[in-house]
Amino acid sequence: MSDYDDQNIFARILRGEIPNATVAETEHTLAFDDITPQAPVHVLVIPKGRYVSYDDFHANASDAEIVDFHRTAARICAERGVALPGDGFRAITNAGVHGVQEVPHFHLHLIGGRPLGRMLA
Ligand code: 5GP
Repeated sequence: MSDYDDQNIFARILRGEIPNATVAETEHTLAFDDITPQAPVHVLVIPKGRYVSYDDFHANASDAEIVDFHRTAARICAERGVALPGDGFRAITNAGVHGVQEVPHFHLHLIGGRPLGRMLA
C-alpha cells in the first residue's frame, strides 16, 4: 500500500474531527457534499480504508470494499436525480501530481445538475 498521511482532511473527517454534510454512509464507504461545489450536485465518495488513490484502492482493497464503494456511488447518483436515463453526471478521480490531487485519500467526485461541457484534460 502507498504511504498514507493520517492527517489528511478526509482522514480527519472519517475520525469525526472535522464536520461534514453526510450524503451516505455504509460499512466501508462515506459520501459527503464537497465544501466548494462545482455544480448543483457535487458529492465526494470515499472509502473508509486508508487508500491514497484510485490505483491504490483497486489494487489493495477487498472485493467487499470495492463493491460497496461503487454501489454507494451509483445509489447517490439515483438519489440526487442525476442517474440515467435522466440528464447524467460526471464521475472523476484525480491522482497524484499530474492528476492534481489535492487530498491524498482516494475519492470520487460525482458532479451533475447542469451541463458540464466536454472535458478530457
Ligand atoms: P481533489 O483535487 O483532491 O480531487 O479534490 C479535493 C476536493 O476536496 C476538492 O473539491 C475540495 O473542494 C474538497 N475539500 C477540501 N477540503 C474539504 C473539506 O474540509 N470538506 C469537504 N466537504 N470537502 C473538502
